[in-house]
Amino acid sequence: MRTIVIIGAGIGGLATGYLLSKHGENVTVIEHQKQPGGCLQSFYRNRLRFDTGLHYLGGLNTGGPLDYFFKELGLTDLPWMEIKEYEVHCGDKHYFIPCGESAWLEYMETMFPSKKAELHNFIKSLRDITYCPIADTTKYWEQNAWEWLEKTITEPELRDVISGMSFILELRKENLPLFAFAEILYSYFCSIHILPAGGQPITDHLVKGINANGGKIRCNATAVQIMESGRQVTGVMLDTGEIIEADVVISAINPTALMSMIKEDSCIRHVYRRRVKNLECTLGCFTANLQLSDDYIIKNQDPIYIHKPGSDFWDMSTDDVTQVLIHFYKGQNTADIITPMSWDSVKRWSDMPAGCRGEDYVIFKERKLNECLDLVETVLPDFGKAIVNHWSSTPLTWETYLLSPKGTAYGVRKDNNSLETTLLYPYTPLSGLYLTGQSMILHGIMGTTISAFQTASLVNNNIKAWPSKL
Ligand SMILES: Cc1cc2nc3c(=O)[nH]c(=O)nc-3n(C[C@H](O)[C@H](O)[C@H](O)COP(=O)(O)OP(=O)(O)OC[C@H]3O[C@@H](n4cnc5c(N)ncnc54)[C@H](O)[C@@H]3O)c2cc1C
Repeated sequence: MRTIVIIGAGIGGLATGYLLSKHGENVTVIEHQKQPGGCLQSFYRNRLRFDTGLHYLGGLNTGGPLDYFFKELGLTDLPWMEIKEYEVHCGDKHYFIPCGESAWLEYMETMFPSKKAELHNFIKSLRDITYCPIADTTKYWEQNAWEWLEKTITEPELRDVISGMSFILELRKENLPLFAFAEILYSYFCSIHILPAGGQPITDHLVKGINANGGKIRCNATAVQIMESGRQVTGVMLDTGEIIEADVVISAINPTALMSMIKEDSCIRHVYRRRVKNLECTLGCFTANLQLSDDYIIKNQDPIYIHKPGSDFWDMSTDDVTQVLIHFYKGQNTADIITPMSWDSVKRWSDMPAGCRGEDYVIFKERKLNECLDLVETVLPDFGKAIVNHWSSTPLTWETYLLSPKGTAYGVRKDNNSLETTLLYPYTPLSGLYLTGQSMILHGIMGTTISAFQTASLVNNNIKAWPSKL
C-alpha cells in the first residue's frame, strides 16, 4: 500500500482522496484551514448560513456531463434541488430562460425565430464538444471561444443572452478557449442544481468516505516544502517543520503557489518552475452576503444575472461594476451579490492582516456594494432597503483564508493562444508529484471533479478517468 499525501482539502483534493482511498491507497489530505472544504465551505453570520464557492451546479441531470463523476463519488444521493429557470437582464431586456437542453432551445427559438438554424447548430456543437473523444479535445482548446461564437451566432443580442452567465466563465475575447466556454456553458444549459444546505454536505460526504476507507484529513496543516530525493518525491514539510513522508504527493492547490514549495536544488528545472509560477490567474470577486428583512418576499431561487446597459459581456477588464449575480438562499431571507474584482483594486491593503485593514478598506467595500445595488435595483427596485445586515469579501479574503494567490477565484487562466503552457497536465517532472484542482482543465465544481478523476486514474490505473463511452 502506497502512502499518498494530498495538499489541499477543497473538492479537488477530497475527490482525489476519496477515489484513491477507495482503491486501497493510504491517503492523508492536509489542509491549511481549520476545516476541510476549501471553496465548498459554508460559514455563519448572525446564525445565518452563507456559502463561499458553490451556488449552482451545472450538468448533474441524468446522463449530463457531471452525472458519471458524481455517481462514482456517491454525491448524486445528496438532497439536490433542480432549478427550472435562470434570468438574464440588461437594461430593458429581460430573459427568463428555462434549463434543460430542449426547453432552452425552444425558448431561444421563440425569442429569436429567425435564428433557429444557428441555434440548433450552436447547441449541437456545444454537445459535440462536451462529449467529444478525449483525443480530439485539443482542437477545441486551440480555438478561440469568442471568434467561434461570432461566427456561429450572428445576432449580437442573442450572443449576449447566451453569454449572460459571463461571470462564471470569465469571458475574455482575447484568449478563452472554445472547449472551456462550451463545456461549462453546456453543463448549465443541461440543468442547474442547488444544495439547499450549501456545499458542506459534499465536503462531509467525501471526508466520511475517506475516513471510512482508512484515510485521514489533517486540518491546520500548511504545506511549505516538497521533499525529494534522487528525482523522486519523498514527502511534504509543514510550516511547523514536521515532515510527512509519502510515496506520492498530489498538489490540489494553485500550482503557481506550489512552485514556491519546490527547493532551489530540485530536479524540477528552474525553467519549468518559473513557467508555472508566472502563469496568469483569473480575477477574484467581490461578494456581499446579505441578511434581508423578514417581510422581503423571495420569489424563487433562480440565478439572476444583471448586466449594465451598453456593457460588453465579454469585457472583464474594468473595475466598474458592469455585472452582478444574485443568489437567493433557501429557507432563510438571505442573498449573495457577486461581481468580478481584480487584485489591483485591493492590493494596497494586502500587507495588512484581516480585520486590521483600516477605515478606507471598509469605505471601499461599502462603495462597491452600493455600485452593485445600483445595478441590482434596475431589476429589483428598492432591494437595498430590504438589507438588514451585510458582510462582504474581496480577493484579499480569498488569499488570506484559502491561500489562493492574489485572491483568484478560478485558478490558472486558460489561454487558447498558449495552450502548451496554460493547459496543465497532472504529471510533473518530479516522479511521484502530481497536480490536480481547478487550475488543471476547467474551473468550477464540475471541472475540478473531472480533474480529480484524471489525476487519480494516473496514480492508480484501476480508477477510470472517464465513462467508458469516451
Ligand atoms: C465566489 C465564488 C463562487 C463560485 N461559485 C461556483 C458555483 O456556483 N458553481 C461552481 O461549479 N463553481 C463555483 N465556483 C468555483 C468553485 O468553487 C471552484 O472551482 C472549486 O471549488 C475549486 O476547488 P479546488 O479544490 O481546486 O480549490 P479550493 O477549493 O480552493 O481548495 C484548495 C484548498 O487548499 C488549501 N490550501 C492552500 N494552500 C495550502 C497549503 N500550502 N497547505 C495546505 N492546504 C492548502 C486551501 O485552504 C483550500 O482549502 C465559485 C468560486 C468562487 C470564488
